Amino acid sequence: MIRPPTRFTCALVNSQPVGDKYVQLTLEMITPPELQFEAGQYVSLKVAERGDRRSYSIANIPSVGHAFELLVDVTPQGLGSTYLQNLKVGERVEGLGPLGMFTLADDEPARVMVATGSGVAPFRSMALHLLQTQGSTAPLTLYWGVRHVEDLCYVEEFEQLSMAFPHFQFHPVISQPISGWTLCRGRVTDCLATHAFDDSAGYYLCGNAGMITAVVSFLQEKGLRREQVHFEKFY
Ligand SMILES: Cc1cc2nc3c(=O)[nH]c(=O)nc-3n(C[C@H](O)[C@H](O)[C@H](O)COP(=O)(O)OP(=O)(O)OC[C@H]3O[C@@H](n4cnc5c(N)ncnc54)[C@H](O)[C@@H]3O)c2cc1C
Repeated sequence: MIRPPTRFTCALVNSQPVGDKYVQLTLEMITPPELQFEAGQYVSLKVAERGDRRSYSIANIPSVGHAFELLVDVTPQGLGSTYLQNLKVGERVEGLGPLGMFTLADDEPARVMVATGSGVAPFRSMALHLLQTQGSTAPLTLYWGVRHVEDLCYVEEFEQLSMAFPHFQFHPVISQPISGWTLCRGRVTDCLATHAFDDSAGYYLCGNAGMITAVVSFLQEKGLRREQVHFEKFY
């Protein structure tokens, strides 16, 4: 059920850099004490005194409401990414949420998720929700494209999930791999094209506009119906 957004105040409780490209943040709710959201939704945070806002997808499982996690790409170095990169533990942030309609459709026989960069955030929430909360047995595949191996996070967790739930597959895709990288390299579209194509699946795309355009045309060429494709563009 999509809930109406509410204004909230939260405080930073943890900030963890991932390589020099991302920061993982955990924000504890203050008022109200819980944020109820659907996997895939985002929050809009006030990132400057004059009221500028930026949107960030919620990365954690929805069954945890007292706090939420974000994965922020710090490379734009604009208002939002600089503010969140420099936020100190204990500092308060005003927000509005949950927002967005990029949520899971019911009754899909399989799901394929394709992310670039911090676009993996809503998919972490969706995967945890499907596998751990719903006990979904529908095949679920996650392709995640980043530039360097050091840009990857959540890898241990995704690998543990794929061991516990063999119908979950995780494919990290590195565009500038170190020598010896044996998994997918190049663009996520290259990796997608090398695996068996499931024309019954729901496809979820999140990240930069270039990837979304490329994957949507790939899926159109495969004859997928429009309602099988869901996407969220970050910029
Ligand atoms: C629904 C939604 C959910 C989002 N979720 C996330 C999320 O989970 N994590 C996250 O990191 N971002 C997310 N974003 C992007 C985020 O809202 C900001 O756009 C981003 O943090 C840049 O804001 P800024 O103020 O730092 O840069 P701005 O001042 O807005 O832009 C600075 C410069 O960076 C370029 N730029 C803008 N955004 C990006 C980007 N994402 N990557 C590279 N260059 C960029 C701009 O073209 C500009 O030149 C989301 C966006 C939307 C619409």
